[in-house]
Amino acid sequence: MAIERTLSIIKPDATRRNLTGKINARLEEAGLRIVGQRRIRLTREMAEKFYAVHAERSFFNDLCAFMTSGPVVVQVLEGDGAVARNREVMGATNPQNAAPGTIRRDFAESIEANSVHGSDSLDNAAREVAFFFAETDIVG
Ligand code: GDP
Repeated sequence: MAIERTLSIIKPDATRRNLTGKINARLEEAGLRIVGQRRIRLTREMAEKFYAVHAERSFFNDLCAFMTSGPVVVQVLEGDGAVARNREVMGATNPQNAAPGTIRRDFAESIEANSVHGSDSLDNAAREVAFFFAETDIVG
């Protein structure tokens, strides 16, 4: 499989519980390299823009409020088939459906406060990485 880059976000429920290191260890143990990383506080405007595809969903307002409720860690992950690999390590959106050993199964609080975001396709990965990172901030 080809070397890919994908966007990961450690969400506010996880930074609040000081889980950044534990989640990073899971990613690295899965063969993903963290080649860009920054801890930031999303503005409402950034959250709405990032999640624009969900604008019509009933949970959009709650999701944007949650994502701006505390710091997040935005990161670029690199590796063989990184997009799919990261989705595997994350687990299903709803932690109750997530496979044992996945980040969401082990750490998520709810379907909304589910600890991590990961791009769901190579196209979205490129768009989402560019949303947060300049090429010069990514060191492979
Ligand atoms: P993902 O790709 O697994 O993150 O899932 P989606 O793209 O479908 O949803 C984006 C994010 O919206 C999820 O990670 C959750 O934080 C949140 N979300 C998804 N479904 C629900 C829901 O039914 N209720 C609420 N409150 N939040 C949701």
